[in-house]
Amino acid sequence: MNGKLNGYSAELTKKPLDVVIVGGGLVGSLEALYLARRGHRVRLYEYREDIRNTPQARGRSINLALSVRGRRALKDVGLEAHIIEKHGIPMTGRRIHRLDGSTYVIPYDALSNQCIYSVGRNYLNSLLLQESEKYTNVERHFKHKLVDTYLSKGNLTFQRTDTAEKIQVSADLVIGADGAFSGVRKAMMKQPLFDYSQKYIEHGYIELCIPAAENGSFQMPANYLHIWPRGEFMMIALPNQDCSWTVTLFMPFTNFQNLDTPNKLLGFFNKNFPDSIPLIGEKKLIEDFFAGSPSPLVAIKCRPYHVEDKAVLIGDAAHAVVPFYGQGMNAGFEDCTLLNELFQKHNDNLADILNEFSNTRWEDTYAISDLAMYNYIEMRDLVTRPSYRLRKAFDEF
Ligand code: FAD
Repeated sequence: MNGKLNGYSAELTKKPLDVVIVGGGLVGSLEALYLARRGHRVRLYEYREDIRNTPQARGRSINLALSVRGRRALKDVGLEAHIIEKHGIPMTGRRIHRLDGSTYVIPYDALSNQCIYSVGRNYLNSLLLQESEKYTNVERHFKHKLVDTYLSKGNLTFQRTDTAEKIQVSADLVIGADGAFSGVRKAMMKQPLFDYSQKYIEHGYIELCIPAAENGSFQMPANYLHIWPRGEFMMIALPNQDCSWTVTLFMPFTNFQNLDTPNKLLGFFNKNFPDSIPLIGEKKLIEDFFAGSPSPLVAIKCRPYHVEDKAVLIGDAAHAVVPFYGQGMNAGFEDCTLLNELFQKHNDNLADILNEFSNTRWEDTYAISDLAMYNYIEMRDLVTRPSYRLRKAFDEF
């Protein structure tokens, strides 16, 4: 398969590898593109239906902050310009909401005007899957659940969720991109010397929505990540393409449990987020809040990420982090970039690629995980401390 693939120059100098990716979420879909561009045969197996045909599922963040790590990966596969120019909404700083409803801005980068971008999860995932249709060497199999693995042989069993039929698959390389509760990682845990830790924090989250104004515009200044820091808990809002806002309330589960009636909920919002009530609307606030229960947040660390020259973990399967640093997807995208560099460096020799990935990647992902834990305290509390206001005053000076 040396030569051109749909206009892209494949760099492969030897026989293409047969790669199976488990998980067609953000990271698995991106990895499929990297490998397809390199000329390998890719089969992507995803538990859910094709996200391109289904509405947004509740319980996953609706939008995400895309930063430089993620942009670099999207650039490599030819999608950065589209996302930045056509879809992403720039967020140039944090806009802090005080209790009295007044706001102030802390720029992310006042010197060189860099910013992060709010992107829709479904949109980005669909775009990555759609892009993979351009490559004849990528197959997509939806409604296929990984149920059994023999990783050191590269053998996997999937079960179709519609017909219950079981399908045996074997591959030169298995890539576990199956998220925080990864089945591929579960199989790796039986390996000697496999380190693993998981931490659920005592806080959960619920997603609410500030709809677009009646004239179809944003109800708040659009180009910011809005934060209502309240010490022990916080609410944030990221802008959507349709001028609505996805609002996420992070709070201890015990506080959520106490809000068990509409009156208590409205009392809580009147006390802590009064300016948000007219934006969300009382009726919608009550409906959305009681439509589901708060979702938990887990951080997972593990290593090594690979088994021999046969299997490797990427994305949340390798390193799920709490969302407060906005780096989970971005770090997963960076995994794909780094793997691609190692494919080039080691001329597609899997033993060398996987070994180096495991040895060099874990320190950064452990650091991102720790920074993400710390940033919750920063966002919900420290961001309101005077030193930040001084810095803002200095910036304006
Ligand atoms: P996932 O998105 O979990 O995808 C895994 C896929 O594997 C899924 O499609 C799943 O169906 C499939 N799968 C699972 N099990 C099987 C199986 N047995 N067989 C077959 N398929 C299977 N990150 C950021 O960078 N910026 C942000 O602003 C940000 N905000 C966030 C806000 C919240 C509230 C949360 C919870 C997370 C946020 N993240 C953010 C993190 C981000 O969502 C994750 O890091 C990202 O989704 C990881 O992608 P992934 O493809 O590795 O895993």
